Amino acid sequence: MLDNLRQDFINKTTQLVVVNRELEVVDSDNNLFDISKNSDITDFHPFFFALTTIFDEELQEETFFCVQMEVLGKHYFIDIKTYIGEDGDTLVLILNDLTDHYKTVHQIKQVRNESIINFNISQELNQQLEIQRSFKNKFLANVSHEIRTPLNSIVGFISVLENTEISREQLDVLHIIKDSSKNLVTILDDLMDISKIEAGKLDIKKRRFDFREFVEKLAKTYQIRTDDKRLSFDFELSSKIPRFLVGDHLRINQVIVNLLENALKYTHQGGIKFTVTTSSVNARRIPVTFEVTDTGIGIPKEKLDSIFDSFTQLEKRGLFGGSGLGLSIVKQLTDLLESDLEVKSVEGEGSTFSFTVFMGVSHNQKKEKVAKKKRDKKDLKGAKRPRILLGEDVEVNQLLMMRLFADYGAYSLDIAKNGERVVEYLDRFPYDLVILDLTMPVMDGLDAAVQIRNSSNKKVSKLPIIALTARTSQEEQDAAKEAGMNAYLTKPIDADLLFSTIERLLSRYKRKDKVLEISEEEE
Ligand code: ADP
Repeated sequence: MLDNLRQDFINKTTQLVVVNRELEVVDSDNNLFDISKNSDITDFHPFFFALTTIFDEELQEETFFCVQMEVLGKHYFIDIKTYIGEDGDTLVLILNDLTDHYKTVHQIKQVRNESIINFNISQELNQQLEIQRSFKNKFLANVSHEIRTPLNSIVGFISVLENTEISREQLDVLHIIKDSSKNLVTILDDLMDISKIEAGKLDIKKRRFDFREFVEKLAKTYQIRTDDKRLSFDFELSSKIPRFLVGDHLRINQVIVNLLENALKYTHQGGIKFTVTTSSVNARRIPVTFEVTDTGIGIPKEKLDSIFDSFTQLEKRGLFGGSGLGLSIVKQLTDLLESDLEVKSVEGEGSTFSFTVFMGVSHNQKKEKVAKKKRDKKDLKGAKRPRILLGEDVEVNQLLMMRLFADYGAYSLDIAKNGERVVEYLDRFPYDLVILDLTMPVMDGLDAAVQIRNSSNKKVSKLPIIALTARTSQEEQDAAKEAGMNAYLTKPIDADLLFSTIERLLSRYKRKDKVLEISEEEE
């Protein structure tokens, strides 16, 4: 039985051929192919020319793996074994048909190769994308810096002009210029946010904050804004939500402001409703749902999916301003906040945007007493005014700061045109605080800060330092902190923020007997 099977298998897969030195076929069992006796085996297939070498070199036993042959239009993969016959003048060939086996192996190899190739391609694509992304981010940071610098003097001088005696009409025009400049700053901020999010550099910071005050302030602002546009404003804050929560109020604020701004922009009659609710109480973490509803122009059903893409604006609906980045940032921020942004909208009737964020409930629900008494400008009259040294190279910025400080009146200001001069002045005169522009010729702000911190004079080395820069990247902020600076303010200068920061640092400086802890974190 087994003998029969073996014979059957051999018949189907193996052919024996005997050839002589002239490569003539002496015998063949023709199990696989018809090879005529006395024919030249190389006529059957040119591969067999190789047999001459075997005879010449008297190679007793040889194997050729996976020889490809096309016979009568069919492809074969054959292993060929050769033995020199006992007489020394003939060669026995054993042809073993392994076509199916080799085809399977080939397919497996091909699939493996393709997956290796695909992996390499995707790696290369990823690298290219990374290069493009980092180029885009660098490009955006540079463009943002270049635009921020002139914008700084526009915004700054507008506030200087506002405090001069000008007519009502001129003031109105000034406000239009101010609004447009602020829009430009917002667009720059949006662009930077998008690139920070893409680069994975925006993270969520959790802090304890007065949640109820935060939401009420927001509502108050938009109550005024909707009044101005003759729209109604309904506000609801669930009494179940505790006062102090733990979460990233800056990012939550950014999302809500974006949604409320859109509601305001796209609503011309009716009004806006802003509700803040929770579905759970008495837990350590509660879900807080924010909802902004408007009776505005609404969004067509087929466009609902695309509004979250960057630079998407549903044009042809009138010019509303904006960059088309707002909702894309909102979407990415809510993702970071581990929340889903939901939108319901009916064209011509209005829209509702909502999202739910889980926030911690602070153990301490008590309000701290406000230790600092806001210093009034008048309080300082007669008192010795703190001396501030500014390092700034650009003339128009020097002029702007001189005007802002002159109008504010509480401090005396000296200006040095680069970091080296700042260090020189500090050695010669007593100052209470230093403001450093980061990009300056000869010695930049970072190097100057390091020199100040390393000064052997304790009164100099412990001085509070504020970085003032048109660069807004996290790297710059980190570098400023690393160099020992205590606060980081970006241009365009927000005069209120500048003076409140100076105030805060000076009061801390005095409180600690002129020894300021550099490690103290400034927000
Ligand atoms: P934009 O800067 O144009 O407002 P957004 O990314 O904030 O950009 O919004 C994208 C688009 O979605 C807008 O151009 C607008 O067409 C539509 N949209 C957003 N919010 C509303 C809304 N509350 N009502 C109607 N349309 C809206």
